[in-house]
Amino acid sequence: MIYLKTDDEIELLREANLLVGKTLAELAKIIKPGVTTRQLDVLAETFIRDNGAEPTFKGFPNPYGEPFPASICTSVNEQVVHGIPNDIPLKDGDIVSIDCGTKLNGFCGDSCYTFAVGEISEEAQNLLRVTKEALYKGIEQAVVGKRIGDISYAVQNHCESHGYGVVREFVGHGVGHEMHEDPQVPNYGRRGNGVMLKNGLCIAIEPMITMGAKEIYMLPDKWGIITRDRSLAAHFEHTICVRKGQADILSSFDEIEKNIQK
Ligand code: MG
Ligand code: MG
Repeated sequence: MIYLKTDDEIELLREANLLVGKTLAELAKIIKPGVTTRQLDVLAETFIRDNGAEPTFKGFPNPYGEPFPASICTSVNEQVVHGIPNDIPLKDGDIVSIDCGTKLNGFCGDSCYTFAVGEISEEAQNLLRVTKEALYKGIEQAVVGKRIGDISYAVQNHCESHGYGVVREFVGHGVGHEMHEDPQVPNYGRRGNGVMLKNGLCIAIEPMITMGAKEIYMLPDKWGIITRDRSLAAHFEHTICVRKGQADILSSFDEIEKNIQK
């Protein structure tokens, strides 16, 4: 069932999503070689709760019914998504995707940013740039009268034109009272196919892109997802509202990018 949101609901969704951006911006201040993803998780959980919200990821069940043990997903290098924070220090040249979810006043925020740790290779920089570009190319299609397949195609076409892999098993989704609502928003597809986009449809668009092949494995912890060929993966996500002419981006990277450690 697809629920279109009212303008009041969209403002509440915006608050929850802007809090995700602020949380990631707090993390951006301390991301550098030597910091552990567990330190990032502790900071994120504290910041989210201090702002009167809940970290939606904490306790969220996997398909085996096991609860996610942390407040953010931290996916390093060949990890695509759902990495569990740990005590391994990040190294110079790593990339780390940090996916964060909040629930504030009954509505969910969901956004992800892939950070460079120290100096990263030119190849890694290109992967991050193209994945973020693909997100915005998808968002350009998220307007009244287009279809989900228009978003999917735009993301896929941009990434594949650079020779990258587009992960199939995980997709974007509707966002509202629940973190994952209908419809699904794949990062691959055909123009003119799928659900018609209507005014007030709120969705997360989230390309998960690999430098090599698109195939993935699940780690034995039943959470972390890695590329089969161990190539690097990037993940950028915004929650947006479909509008006439131009989508309204409810999450924000602005503060994150101000705080990124040079
Ligand atoms: Mg997310
Ligand atoms: Mg999401």
